[in-house]
Amino acid sequence: MDLTFSSEDLAFRDEVRAFIAANLSPETRRKVEEGRALDKADVVDWQRTLNTRGWATPSWPASAGGPGWSAVQRYIFMDELYAACAPEPLSFNVSMIGPVLIQYGNDDQKARFLNATANLDVWWAQGFSEPGAGSDLAALSTTAVRDGDHYVVNGQKLWQGMAQRADWMFTLVRTDPTAPKKQGGISFLLVDLKSPGVTIRPIITIDGRHEVNEVFLEDVRVPVSDRIGEENQGWTYAKYLLSNERTGIARIGMTRRVLARVETVLAAADSGWSDAESARFVHEARVIHADLRALEITQLRVLAAQQAGQADPRSSILKIKGVELRQAASELLLRATGPAGYAFVYEGDGEAPSEAASNYFTLRAASIYGGASEVQKNIIASSVLGL
Ligand SMILES: Cc1cc2nc3c(=O)[nH]c(=O)nc-3n(C[C@H](O)[C@H](O)[C@H](O)COP(=O)(O)OP(=O)(O)OC[C@H]3O[C@@H](n4cnc5c(N)ncnc54)[C@H](O)[C@@H]3O)c2cc1C
Repeated sequence: MDLTFSSEDLAFRDEVRAFIAANLSPETRRKVEEGRALDKADVVDWQRTLNTRGWATPSWPASAGGPGWSAVQRYIFMDELYAACAPEPLSFNVSMIGPVLIQYGNDDQKARFLNATANLDVWWAQGFSEPGAGSDLAALSTTAVRDGDHYVVNGQKLWQGMAQRADWMFTLVRTDPTAPKKQGGISFLLVDLKSPGVTIRPIITIDGRHEVNEVFLEDVRVPVSDRIGEENQGWTYAKYLLSNERTGIARIGMTRRVLARVETVLAAADSGWSDAESARFVHEARVIHADLRALEITQLRVLAAQQAGQADPRSSILKIKGVELRQAASELLLRATGPAGYAFVYEGDGEAPSEAASNYFTLRAASIYGGASEVQKNIIASSVLGL
């Protein structure tokens, strides 16, 4: 197995690097570097810039308007984004609903949504989880009852990332409560969040940020034409979406960025650490770097063996280890920042954790969303180890 990049891959990397250097705004770059929250405009502007080059949708095939890249090219592209402190294309659009529209959407849905999704003219939210349905997603209880050429939807969704910015939400609803298997009676709907009966309530998390929400659906009328695929077959489309969500989940470049920040903090004249204390932090950073290199090689092995278009259960290994290292790096950054990292800062009309603490807290959730670590271990046990 060849784990080195070909000369074409290296030329591609240089092209990506040059494009980012020429086009990423310094302010957005600084925000990403410092782990600060991005405004909606930062995300939209950058995605549109990438889209002018045909690069906003790395995993989409050329036939659907994507760049048609190989898995290795996608890896190189994402790695360059992380290294350059550029935002990722919005995953709800690009990695989640986009591939579902391409694979299962009808011609009308593709015409209405594909280009708008790539260009972020439509911002999507993911309406899967509910108060009683997270890891056990098929237990969801939001209902959709047919009324002529509409569904009438009632229920509550929970943890919708960035729904406060979203125009539309892809969601799972129960259309057949009598189906013998709970996975059997689920349909996949596209909901216009401006519809009467939709209420979005913020959840402010311990990191001081407003990233997640509750979404209440009360007698919301959704045209039947906004259903993906067949009625009661939504579980098939949801599984396809979730397998795409977990690819590239290791985010190695992002962790390297946090480690670079550790070194910057230590190098500052007012860091307050003695040389010996600084050296200890640097040593810890190097240990994480070594683990990252091992994970990178594992990721390249998985990529090299991946069958095009097929989910690989070993992506669960990448998710678990990738998150562990992201969390370790954020903890190191918090400790290296020293007492200032633990202090609250005042901004706007209230107080919030410092940037280092906010990052640390934000990353606690990474072992829960996209499939909790325990659930990933179950997948490894059954699908990789055959236990
Ligand atoms: C920051 C954040 C953003 C999110 N964004 C979105 C979003 O945009 N859209 C959306 O729909 N959802 C989103 N989620 C929800 C996320 O998908 C769920 O939180 C996740 O699936 C876990 O579900 P749960 O919270 O109900 O916990 P539970 O499923 O109740 O799990 C609780 C604990 O039990 C463990 N556990 C559960 N089942 C098993 C098992 N079979 N074996 C062993 N251990 C088990 C879990 O690992 C966990 O530790 C987000 C969550 C967070 C925290």
